[in-house]
Amino acid sequence: MLRSTKIVATLGPASNDPATQERLLNAGVNMVRLNFSHGTAEDHINRAAGVREIAKKLGRAVAVLVDLQGPKIRVGKFEKGKVTLEKGAKFILDAECQVGNLERVGLDYKELPNDVEAGAILLLNDGLIKMEVNEVRGPEVHCTVLLGGVLSNNKGINRQGGGLTAPALTAKDMEDIKTAAKLNADYVAVSFPKSGSDMYMARTLLRAAGSKALLIAKIERTEAITNLEEILDASDGIMVARGDLAVEVGEATVPALQKKMIKLARKKNKLTITATQMMESMIENPVPTRAEVSDVANAVLDGTDAVMLSAESAAGKFPVETVEVMARTCVEAEKSQESKIITEDALFGGDFSRIDQAISMSALYAASRLNVKAIAALTQSGSSALWVSRFLCGVPIYAITPVEETYNRLSLMRDVHPMLVAQVTNDHDEQLVRAEVEMLRRGVVQKGDYVIFIFGDVVGIGGGTNSMKIVKVGERRS
Ligand code: PGA
Ligand code: MN
Repeated sequence: MLRSTKIVATLGPASNDPATQERLLNAGVNMVRLNFSHGTAEDHINRAAGVREIAKKLGRAVAVLVDLQGPKIRVGKFEKGKVTLEKGAKFILDAECQVGNLERVGLDYKELPNDVEAGAILLLNDGLIKMEVNEVRGPEVHCTVLLGGVLSNNKGINRQGGGLTAPALTAKDMEDIKTAAKLNADYVAVSFPKSGSDMYMARTLLRAAGSKALLIAKIERTEAITNLEEILDASDGIMVARGDLAVEVGEATVPALQKKMIKLARKKNKLTITATQMMESMIENPVPTRAEVSDVANAVLDGTDAVMLSAESAAGKFPVETVEVMARTCVEAEKSQESKIITEDALFGGDFSRIDQAISMSALYAASRLNVKAIAALTQSGSSALWVSRFLCGVPIYAITPVEETYNRLSLMRDVHPMLVAQVTNDHDEQLVRAEVEMLRRGVVQKGDYVIFIFGDVVGIGGGTNSMKIVKVGERRS
């Protein structure tokens, strides 16, 4: 069954061995996420190489995402590893404290006392613990516990409503960007960006390190919602990072934000990944809850490019089963999605000025009027496949490319099915016939089907799409 929505799986202890990775790819994983909050550079380099080797053996495209840790703002360690905080108790977050106890704990993020004032609400451990700041005394933030619970070593701190000034790229992230370049990452995700300039900075460092990776902004700060447009403009895609986002803006606002973010991203020709707790209960159980299935289906209906697994695939008991359920859920949701009639307004009302965009829009317009089986984009850089994939057109898009990087990268895009086909000719007509023969061979089209090809009449140039041809498969042409 052809699935349009893509699946991202985080690798970790539950999915580090090659046999499990092969099963994950066979179950439908389109991109693996390397979480740079854990593990060494060497681990990540080896993992990326291993997964790529398996994908090659299976004849599948797979993208590799490097997810930078970012300035996760954390408490330090406790004498006994953890404490239990009671509601109403006084507690001090102390930038100078070495080892914590029931009275106080140290801070990885030394700037916290400068970023808060009396009345500020702090959420710890993903919001399970809540404190109100009473006063700041030098390096000490004095708080009252509003919502108690167990606080253990190195748990994260968020400020409700945002306002923490930590920069998006830490010294560790800057080193990790070099590792991303070394392992030839297809995508790099920046954690906790606040503005477009955070993304420009990441892009500059990435390009300086020699990487061509596409950049994903994780939307998980209050400021990132305010600055969503400029962050989108400076990125190739966004992650709806619901874990931290829910803590910062309040969980009840996240579903509506998810819809808004995905819609705006599509309008700006950007990619989207919907992440966190999608199949959370499958960390422990072989079946998901009904609510989780609905959550995945709704992300599909929102138009997300991909749905993501975190601990489910990295540390859960049923990584492969989780991907299987997720894949089934996506396919069913896609079936139920009414294929949108693409109006002239939607197609031509947007902002586009490039020739390859004009051809891509024309192909979509034709596809919405004719009964075509597929759109086939002969592409070097992948741009034309991206443009046609932004409209949920209801027609599969085959992206036919001789470039391995493009092939892997495109596997994240909704509706896009990448095919690696060597380029043996400079004659575009001959290359079109090769593409058609390959599509027939793989059974994705039959004799007599109509296919819309988009391509550059000079073969082999990135962004060079300038032509469209509608073909009846198997018909002799001269
Ligand atoms: P994380 O990001 O898993 O790296 O924290 C995702 C999120 O916050 O939802
Ligand atoms: Mn996060």
